[in-house]
Amino acid sequence: MKETYPYKKTCLYCNEQYKGRLNSKFCTPSHKALYHADINRQNEEVENKKYDRYRMVVDLLIKNCEILDSVLEKNTVPNVSVTRNELLQLGFSFQYHTSIDGQEGYNVFMSFDKGLKILGVDTYEIVTKQ
Ligand SMILES: [Zn+2]
Repeated sequence: MKETYPYKKTCLYCNEQYKGRLNSKFCTPSHKALYHADINRQNEEVENKKYDRYRMVVDLLIKNCEILDSVLEKNTVPNVSVTRNELLQLGFSFQYHTSIDGQEGYNVFMSFDKGLKILGVDTYEIVTKQ
């Protein structure tokens, strides 16, 4: 009598021995599905971890932008100047920016569309990119 599935195989999901075709990898279709679901979940976790550090920086940049917006909203005059200490007290993070624009000989450290133009020692003007 000829065996339909003559090969001794080991299931990739449960590690149990079974008899199957030469190219089969799983003892049951459900173990095949569970195995691939595990692989997909692991890949998602790797992707999420990879982007966590970028999300942290983007969150800081968004917060910076919101802080600059809040300072601008409290002032009705244009060319609002602010000190480093005032910004630090509001939680501004100076270590990240999206770009550095040159403006009339000044460096402007941008957080998206809002920026800090360095006016002097620890003094900045808040600028909005048009
Ligand atoms: Zn199995």
